[in-house]
Amino acid sequence: MPHTTLFESGGHRNILFDDFAAGGHAVQANQHLIVHNGAGMILDPGGHKVYSKVLAATFQTLGGAKLKYIFLSHQDPDIVAATNGWLMTTDATAYVSALWTRFVPHFGLDSLVEKRLLPIPDEGMKLDLGGQDLLIVPAHYLHSSGNFHVYDPISKILYTGDLGASINGKNTEVADFDAHIPAMEGFHKRYMASTRALRAWVRSVRGLDISIIAPQHGQYFTGANVKRFLDWCDSLECGIELLEPIYKIPS
Ligand code: FE
Repeated sequence: MPHTTLFESGGHRNILFDDFAAGGHAVQANQHLIVHNGAGMILDPGGHKVYSKVLAATFQTLGGAKLKYIFLSHQDPDIVAATNGWLMTTDATAYVSALWTRFVPHFGLDSLVEKRLLPIPDEGMKLDLGGQDLLIVPAHYLHSSGNFHVYDPISKILYTGDLGASINGKNTEVADFDAHIPAMEGFHKRYMASTRALRAWVRSVRGLDISIIAPQHGQYFTGANVKRFLDWCDSLECGIELLEPIYKIPS
């Protein structure tokens, strides 16, 4: 099963699955797997069109390791739609913002597994993966009102969900940051809800030692492009501040 290893050292691995294109009009989406000391976390596993492929790739990549967590950065269908299948076929526990635990079941959640969908409080939390804490970092309104990122202190990868997404069909490392901006700009201006939220997020994550920023759509940022991306976010105007002028009743 083809995949990209973003980091590997000792018993710790960070895997990006190769594009399981959902096809048709469905937006390209990345699935990430973190494995530490025999325990695994799948991030934003996706919907029904990729479910069987991502599940098979996950089990194959886990080897003898056990899937412990299903992390859901927010409530969108390309993230949570297949949550029931993941809970039915594994013993893992799923985590999503406390704002969304009563909405995800509308995609269908069997009574046998509904107790394994747990809330993340607004302030975030730590999750112990095989003896290593992963940080669940608040990123509310970027774009969802209940939204989280994952920081892995071993690989120094920050998984940012829709933040940093690009829609040029590629999911490799960004080579030229300036050339990459057009693939991100329109998406961020419209989907990211608030300039103020974006600035607050930049301030909070500047305190982390980050080697890779890995979004859920498109390409990822490494090396000097990590800082370039944070600086770009710090200067971007987005969301409601741009939209106010178009709140008009259609005539
Ligand atoms: Fe989304």
